[in-house]
Amino acid sequence: MSFDQLHAELQARKAQSLYRQRRILQSPQSPEVIVEGRACLAFCSNDYLGLANHPEIIAALKQGADRYGVGGGASHLVNGHSQAHHALEEELADFSGRPRALLFSTGYMANMGTITALLDKRDGVFQDRLNHASLLDGGLLSGARFQRFLHNDADNLNTRLQRSDARRKLVVCDGVFSMDGDLSELPALSATAAQHQAWMMVDDAHGLGCIGSQGRGTVDHFGLGHEQVQVLVGTLGKAFGTSGAFVAGSEELIETLIQHARTYIYTTSMSPAVASATRASLKLVQQDEWRREKLNDLIERFRRGCEQLGLPLMASATPIQPIMVGSAGRAMAISAALEAKGIYIGAIRPPTVPEGSARLRVTLSAMHTDAQLDRLLATLEDVMVGVTGTTD
Ligand code: PMP
Repeated sequence: MSFDQLHAELQARKAQSLYRQRRILQSPQSPEVIVEGRACLAFCSNDYLGLANHPEIIAALKQGADRYGVGGGASHLVNGHSQAHHALEEELADFSGRPRALLFSTGYMANMGTITALLDKRDGVFQDRLNHASLLDGGLLSGARFQRFLHNDADNLNTRLQRSDARRKLVVCDGVFSMDGDLSELPALSATAAQHQAWMMVDDAHGLGCIGSQGRGTVDHFGLGHEQVQVLVGTLGKAFGTSGAFVAGSEELIETLIQHARTYIYTTSMSPAVASATRASLKLVQQDEWRREKLNDLIERFRRGCEQLGLPLMASATPIQPIMVGSAGRAMAISAALEAKGIYIGAIRPPTVPEGSARLRVTLSAMHTDAQLDRLLATLEDVMVGVTGTTD
């Protein structure tokens, strides 16, 4: 069998400006990166606190490797669960104010594994329609009856929960929505879930480290806790600057995941050196309030600047600040024009976001300087006027 059909499909994607391409990064994550030989100012990483290249975390990684080696060697349930993993789990449980936490190798796997471990076809899963792909995929794979409620709409959720006769009901949302940057309406959503004896699960990949007291995330930001949000997912590859993820919750939740979460059971544990590095990162996340303050200053400065330029933003107070540009073609043209001027921003296109809502997903980091932000704004002014194009 030939690959002609795949070739034709790939060509069609290119013609629609939907082709995805990687770039080779030749430097650590930082506001200034080297991409394929060129120095660029980057506004597209999720390294919100600027910890991905922090010397203390690098030192902890090296010490972790010296002590526990590089490879996990086996799954957690065979003999890949090191003391570094265990200590990190205890510290994350403490940080998140929950009885226990369980490490996963990625956030994608944490979401898939958790939903599939908790639900089967007798159950119902209720997802915000803008939830991350890993939550949607977990819901679909679980076999539970799958419903998407209108974005942040507790009334719509309520109607759906009322109609459901499922055995278990799980309401799921992002804490901070990854493509729009807005916060979930957690007080209303969790109260609605509680009225229907549903569990509430929040994936706080983008809130953790950035908001809440000492970076405890969206749930803490709203003054909520374990009572209202029984299943909390955090990822470690974003504000924490390392990689991996955790689920935090009750003793019973964590034991159920250990027994049933296939993405936990059947995979090698994260590198123990990464677990050691993350322990150092957790300390900095809590301690370095100045990083969150700096981030908030940058967010305000960016929003003010865009307002002056008349650039359409979303209602976001987080480091995710998308500039809406309309069509995929226009997003690609603007992104290329920015790159020609040494500014690197990801163009996000359908199907990741709805048709007609392609965007430049600007993300800010505490390591950006005011001068770098001003350069971004000046270049945007230049480029956005030049590339008027269509906004279909
Ligand atoms: N949840 C959300 C909301 C995300 O944005 C992402 C990653 N972009 C993930 C989960 C997956 O996390 P990881 O990258 O650790 O697989």
